[in-house]
Amino acid sequence: MSIASPLFSPLPTSLDYVRLSGDELVERIQARKRHLNAVILGHNYQRTEIQDVSDFLGDSLGLSQEAADTDADVIVFCGVHFMAETAKVLSPGKRVLMPDLRAGCPMADFVTGTALRRLMDQHPDAAVVAYVNSTAEVKAEADICCTSSNAVRVACSIPDDQPILFVPDKNLANYVAEQTGRKNIIAWEGYCYVHDDMVMEELDRARAAHPGALVVVHPEARSELLEAADAVTSTAGMVEMAEEHDELIIGTERGLVDRLAQRYPHKTFVPLSGAAICGNMKLNTLAKLAWSLDHEQYEVTLDEDIRVRAERSLRRMLDLSGGWQAPSDEERRLELAGVRPHGCGCA
Ligand code: SF4
Repeated sequence: MSIASPLFSPLPTSLDYVRLSGDELVERIQARKRHLNAVILGHNYQRTEIQDVSDFLGDSLGLSQEAADTDADVIVFCGVHFMAETAKVLSPGKRVLMPDLRAGCPMADFVTGTALRRLMDQHPDAAVVAYVNSTAEVKAEADICCTSSNAVRVACSIPDDQPILFVPDKNLANYVAEQTGRKNIIAWEGYCYVHDDMVMEELDRARAAHPGALVVVHPEARSELLEAADAVTSTAGMVEMAEEHDELIIGTERGLVDRLAQRYPHKTFVPLSGAAICGNMKLNTLAKLAWSLDHEQYEVTLDEDIRVRAERSLRRMLDLSGGWQAPSDEERRLELAGVRPHGCGCA
C-alpha cells in the first residue's frame, strides 16, 4: 500500500471517524498499525470489536509484558489508564498511546501518592503492597506490587510481625487477611465498583436458576460472596475452570463471560450479575482507536523517577513469582483464540 493511500491521511475531526463503517475503520486501523509498526493490546473487558482487532488479549500486566517483548515501536493500549502506564513502565523506549484518556479506573483513583505517603508516615514500619490496579505514582511508593493471583504469596513473603499497608482494594486485602490469617493488614478503603456491586441476592438467584453450576467469584468481590462461592480465583483461573467445567456462574466483568460463552457455545456460562459492566473499559471504540492511530494520540508519559521506582516494585513481584513465564504452545493457541488471558485478574 502506498504512503499516498487515503488510509494514511488522518481525518480532521473525531466525528469523521464515527461516520465510517466498521469495515472501513478496521481497514484503516490495520493499515495505520503496519505503517507505525504498532501493536494493539486489548484487555479482556474491552468491547468484542476491539478484542477482534487486538494483537494480544489479556490482562494489563500480561499484556504489558507481551508488549515489552515485541519489536513494535508503538503500543496502543485499549484498557484503562493505569494499564497503559504499566506498559510504559515496562517499555520505556516505546511510545504508548490510549484511544481515550478518560478511560480511567475508579479503583486506582481511590489512592494518590500523596495520600499514601501520609498513611506511610503514620506506619513507618509497615511494608506497602500495591495491587497492580494502581497508578504508577502509587506503585513507585510501594515496596512490592501484587496481582489477584499472587496477592497471598506476596503477603506471605513479608515477615509475620511486620504490618502491611495494602492499597487500594479493601476486598482483596480482606481476602488476603482471611487466607493468611494475618491480623496486621491495614486496608485502603478502595474497591472496584463492578465487583463490589455484586450482591448475595444475585448469587442466590443465579444458583437457584442453575443448581448444577459451580459459582466462581473474583477476589475483588465482597467477602460474603467469596464465602458463598465454590471457588475464588482471578480471570485466568476462571478461564481454566471454563475449560474443565460445562456450567459455571461467573462473578466478574461481563466481557469475560461473553467471550467464554462465544468460545464454548455448547457450555453454560452465566454472569453472576448482568450489571457487572465496567463503563470505563467500554469507553474505547473502533472509531477512537482509528483516530488514535491516525493522530498518534493520546501519548502516555511518565516522570522517569516514578517510572524507575514503579518498575522496581513490579520486578520484585515478578521475581517472587519466579519471573514471567513464556506461555506454552497450547496456552499461546488459547490466547490467540481469545480464550486464555495472559495472567491474572482485571489487572
Ligand atoms: S473492572 Fe474495576 S478494577 Fe477493572 S478497570 Fe473497571 S473499575 Fe477498574
